[in-house]
Amino acid sequence: MALWFSETASPGHHLEWKVNRLLFSGQSQFQTVEVLDTQAFGPSLVLDGIMQTTTGDEYIYHEMLAWVPLSAHPHPHRVLIIGGGDGGLAREVLSSPCVQEVTLVEIDSLVVEVSRQFLPTHASAFADPRLHLIIADGFEYLARTDLEPFDLILIDSTDPEGTGPGGILYTAEFHQKVFQALADDGLYVQQTGTPIYNPEVLAETSRSVAQIFPICRVFWCVVPTYPGGFFTFTSGSKRYDLQQFSPQAVNHARWYTPAIHRGAFALPPVVAQLVPPAIQEAQTFFGS
Ligand code: SAM
Repeated sequence: MALWFSETASPGHHLEWKVNRLLFSGQSQFQTVEVLDTQAFGPSLVLDGIMQTTTGDEYIYHEMLAWVPLSAHPHPHRVLIIGGGDGGLAREVLSSPCVQEVTLVEIDSLVVEVSRQFLPTHASAFADPRLHLIIADGFEYLARTDLEPFDLILIDSTDPEGTGPGGILYTAEFHQKVFQALADDGLYVQQTGTPIYNPEVLAETSRSVAQIFPICRVFWCVVPTYPGGFFTFTSGSKRYDLQQFSPQAVNHARWYTPAIHRGAFALPPVVAQLVPPAIQEAQTFFGS
């Protein structure tokens, strides 16, 4: 009898993955942690019943969340990642020769443990000497007063819905802390989910960020694993516009290119209407 994992995208829509083997199932103090060997995308991480990242298509999300900011910042030497305990984003960020150090703040040590054991393509980053892994709540970490300013802060957390620890990372108070933790020309990017199913995450986050940062932008990519595929990121920047960037030769990339970077800021009207007018105006292309 075939085993299937089912995720509820919305009350009337489920996503299902055929499972060859259940590799791990456990409960941390924060969430239920499972690793499934799926037929379609290989070893995949599930938290509280939500598919987080798969071996088969993780490169899309991680290349975009890493290389759009890395290409737009002239000297991305110090990077903070909050969440991302699977290691995939850190691996992608560390593939840039400009990056001198990555601090990864993950609240759940069980996620790191199972990723090291079952998600080797994600977890290769943990062997990089430039990586500093800290097990802590990202919100509390930014309350520390001894932090050196960061050039980039990337939020790779679980979604704000539900009972998990990700919700606090979508508050204006947290965005204010991010602003304070960034260098004078720093910028931050946060995953803001699939607006086709959860438009309020993008709408509320972009509104909050636009009130705190002088430059706020929204970009997107297609991640087959996530409901509806269409997936967004919201950015706040103190000086640089992510649409202005120096093309990087990311030779290993299977999704990111300078043309994809440029096109990722073209928002369909059904999505643009969710974000503040200033973002819509700044991201309206006429014939370019
Ligand atoms: N790529 C996935 C996505 O976009 O849905 C995210 C994957 S990553 C595994 C998400 C991580 O964020 C989880 O390991 C979770 O424990 C971590 N996380 C959630 N809230 C956090 C917080 N407040 N501080 C630090 N890490 C947090």
